[in-house]
Amino acid sequence: MSSSEVTRELQASRLIYPFYRTLIERFDLEMFPCKDLEEESPDCDEVLTRVRLWFGEADKHIDVAHIRQLAQSDTFDEPTLRVLIWRHVAKEGKTESDRYKVDFLLGHYLAMNMPPELIKEEVGISKVASALAPVVGDSAYMSCLEDLEKCLRDLGECHHIQDLLERRILERGKTLKADAGEQYFHQAALIAFTRFNVFLRDRFRCQYCGDAFPSSDLTFDHVVPRSHGGRTAWTNVVAACSPCNVVKDNRREMRPIKWPREPTHQELLAAKRAFPPNYLHETWRDFLYWDVELER
Ligand SMILES: [Zn+2]
Repeated sequence: MSSSEVTRELQASRLIYPFYRTLIERFDLEMFPCKDLEEESPDCDEVLTRVRLWFGEADKHIDVAHIRQLAQSDTFDEPTLRVLIWRHVAKEGKTESDRYKVDFLLGHYLAMNMPPELIKEEVGISKVASALAPVVGDSAYMSCLEDLEKCLRDLGECHHIQDLLERRILERGKTLKADAGEQYFHQAALIAFTRFNVFLRDRFRCQYCGDAFPSSDLTFDHVVPRSHGGRTAWTNVVAACSPCNVVKDNRREMRPIKWPREPTHQELLAAKRAFPPNYLHETWRDFLYWDVELER
């Protein structure tokens, strides 16, 4: 490696180090801080070797759930996100955990850098591609993505959260990602799967006023409030925009457009996996990552 390459990689490492450090401290991960990055170490091969080992070890301790949780409270700047994505895409011997992280980080990157028209309009592949161009480069056609397009068309016909279960959209998306193997990390696949994630989110509208909202403005709402014995269950939870949520707090008679119905046994099993109780209070943006949650 040339000395300029060593310097460049160490600069990138210093850029993302605060992100890793925060994760390790916040979640009490059993890792010591990286001495070389805490102090002013010189840019040389030995330092780089130690730094790489440290990041490799840290990646094993960090779960996508940690990153997701941090993303809800902290803001990452664009260069940090970009380097994080590069790092995971370029990694040798990528694991399933790396795929989940890339999946999350790309969705997050797009949400942070989304051109305003993407919030209201149809999310075309070229728009997603141009928004992601700084991280994944230019796209090319891949035949393995045809099944994903089919899944997207079915998704387009879903009008309610329950439809997703009936059509097994989340599971199919998850299987497609897993089956793509190394191809998942191809730039065209990264763009297509990120678009799929955005579509998942955009299918959902506030179930009280029926309007579509940016992800950050949507929440889960208990139709029968918890304070009145309402359960945190598939049959009692709908999407709601913040204004409707506030209004509904004071007016219990407010009813969703479609009452969430009792799912079939099959749907219930899927719902249980898609909806662990601890995740229900989290923001609507989590719909982007449902396929990850199905894993748990
Ligand atoms: Zn609303």
